[in-house]
Amino acid sequence: MSKIRTRFAPSPTGRMHVGNLRTALYAYLVAKHAGGDFILRIEDTDQERYVDGAVDIIYRTLAKTGLIHDEGPDKDGGVGPYVQSERQAQGIYLKYAKKLIDRGEAYYCFCTPERLANLKVKVGDKEIAIYDKHCLRLTPEEIQAKLDAGIPYVIRQNNPREGQTSFDDEIYGHISVDNAELDDMILIKSDGYPTYNFANVVDDHLMGITHVVRGNEYLSSAPKYNRLYEAFGWEVPTYIHCPLITNTDHQKLSKRSGHSSYEDLIAQGFLSDAIVNYVALLGWSPEENREIFSLKELVLAFDYHRLSKSPAVFDIEKLKWMNGEY
Ligand code: GLU
Ligand code: ZN
Repeated sequence: MSKIRTRFAPSPTGRMHVGNLRTALYAYLVAKHAGGDFILRIEDTDQERYVDGAVDIIYRTLAKTGLIHDEGPDKDGGVGPYVQSERQAQGIYLKYAKKLIDRGEAYYCFCTPERLANLKVKVGDKEIAIYDKHCLRLTPEEIQAKLDAGIPYVIRQNNPREGQTSFDDEIYGHISVDNAELDDMILIKSDGYPTYNFANVVDDHLMGITHVVRGNEYLSSAPKYNRLYEAFGWEVPTYIHCPLITNTDHQKLSKRSGHSSYEDLIAQGFLSDAIVNYVALLGWSPEENREIFSLKELVLAFDYHRLSKSPAVFDIEKLKWMNGEY
């Protein structure tokens, strides 16, 4: 079997909350438990959601918690993370979108926002808001004329309308969706940037990622990712979607609730090692009946098959107890 390679692929959109930290930790543990590589990739192609300073928070948090990544482009004589905006400037994503166009798996779309605003497509007896493949009918000459005239465009994936797309998740099992409900999603936006789904899949492939570890908010978009792998003819990685984290009222923890960010917990006096230890147990249960683990011990003990499907509860009282054990 080939070497296990995982990645943490945060979008720099704010603080590093416990959910982000847990994703990073689990990705690190899946790799390190198997003697594999852990890669850091900054997904910063969404200009609207970019928050200044967020990248530094990610670097600081990973450095303080000891989740050190293994490889990346040379930066000032050291190993840097991969940064998607830099890769976009190198033309990587456009090149791969054009490959899909050549294979008939993607197409240029010149539709105006006004035309798109009211689109409805009939699927069975319901109408859903997906793209109607209008621009798929353009001839190569028509496309060239529009490109020459500088008309703004996006590149869309050409999804089949028939059949099913399915995928398997290590935690949630087999999931499938009707292709009729899959939109022809945008791969390259009119500003030339890739959508984050597209950049994510291209990079996971190019970086040889074998196990995709991420939050379960991505579970519902996973079939879309699978369609992209199929379109390219690439091998699909193993998916490990981590369970939701809620607060003690069973509400979803949000990035906005500042108290649950790593740096806020540090500011409240919690020890970094205790936070990492506590976060490791949010959804994972060790085989032995034990709760206190150093990072090294977690590496030895971690088995992703023991992740739970049900939501994990973030309980500050439990963290206080754990902190007292350190
Ligand atoms: N960039 C996404 C995020 O920060 C992660 C997507 C993934 O891990 O596949 O939420
Ligand atoms: Zn169009």
